[in-house]
Amino acid sequence: MSITPLMPVYPRCGFRPVRGEHCHLIGEDGRRYLDFAAGIAVNLLGHSHPGLIGAIQRQAETLMHVSNLYGSPQGEKLAQRLVDLTFADTVFFTNSGAEAVECAIKTVRAYHQHGGDEGRFEIITFKNAFHGRTMATISASNQDKMHKGFMPLLAGFKYVDFDDLEGAKAAIGPSTAGFLVEPVQGEGGIRPASDAFMKGLRALADEHGLLLALDEVQCGVARSGTFYAYEQYGIEPDVLATAKGLGGGFPIGACLATEKAARGMVIGTHGSTYGGNPLAMAAGEAVLDAVANDEFLAHVRVTSERLRSRLEQFIGNYPDLFELVRGKGLMLGVKMKMETRGFVAHLRDNHQLLTVAAGDNTLRLVPPLVIGDAEIDEFFEKLSAGAASYDVPETVQ
Ligand SMILES: *Cc1c(COP(=O)(O)O)cnc(C)c1O
Repeated sequence: MSITPLMPVYPRCGFRPVRGEHCHLIGEDGRRYLDFAAGIAVNLLGHSHPGLIGAIQRQAETLMHVSNLYGSPQGEKLAQRLVDLTFADTVFFTNSGAEAVECAIKTVRAYHQHGGDEGRFEIITFKNAFHGRTMATISASNQDKMHKGFMPLLAGFKYVDFDDLEGAKAAIGPSTAGFLVEPVQGEGGIRPASDAFMKGLRALADEHGLLLALDEVQCGVARSGTFYAYEQYGIEPDVLATAKGLGGGFPIGACLATEKAARGMVIGTHGSTYGGNPLAMAAGEAVLDAVANDEFLAHVRVTSERLRSRLEQFIGNYPDLFELVRGKGLMLGVKMKMETRGFVAHLRDNHQLLTVAAGDNTLRLVPPLVIGDAEIDEFFEKLSAGAASYDVPETVQ
């Protein structure tokens, strides 16, 4: 037998972390790495955060899981907090981002079909989007590399260029049910939508009776410098998928919706065995305790400005390597002039700095939101050394 016990779907690197301490990871071999990947925008509070650990420990001792057959004081409490903090009136808890997006897709379809309009099922999505790896969420993305071998896709998605309002408008037809969009594309290359695009989608949705669903799985939960990124566009969605940072490392997602948008999500229409279990709710509460306040959000914005302005200065020293800096809050991308994975591997293997590659030749920086000056200084020491020592491989130039 040659297949590995772990199904070999990931190109895993040689770094094998066994312990986390605040903004660092320690490998099996004892080496320390500065973590500006944070579990791909998940570990908002870094590693080994006492508040999060304590909340999970206490809840594990009290009650871990009971199913959704029973009343949920734990779920009601976290749902109420999310409702109070956002546009939403109601919340469905999931275990992952893809499931949160699935719920958003079902909510959009059910809104029309429950209302008697069976012909409206098509969701307009945007090129280079990433919405997850389930059949519905890969179908929602135009990326062929995620489709290959898994045909046929789920019908009912139409792909339009990201940030192209005219294209979105032209794609609306009699079967259109809504839009699904990341306010800041993550995997696609840390590309923030423009103000005009987001405001325009809201206006088109209103004009045509469509729902606007946002995928804030990566940019949500304080990452962008506001609790959710939509706040910065001066609009409110009808539906929003959130996950990644919400549990700070514990698997949790949620689909948020207005009362109107959720009109089709009635008893018996959706469910999850684990979704919203007491242990997950305790983790979510601990994350919100830390991040859902003005002081913390201001810290994210100030830290983002500091990191961003130093990055902009820094890339000027290496015009052959770097092109520009973009993003929002502590979701920053440095567009490179070459394929990015080689540089990510170089930073990791030779300078103990963890980053993530994203689409469009982008070096993705999604550190824990609790970084301070010490981590930023260490980041630039490692990045400078990494840029100075990088031999651009011929094959990827
Ligand atoms: C990561 C991600 C998802 C999928 O989340 P999973 O937890 O991996 O299922 C969906 N949408 C966006 C924008 C993401 O970044």
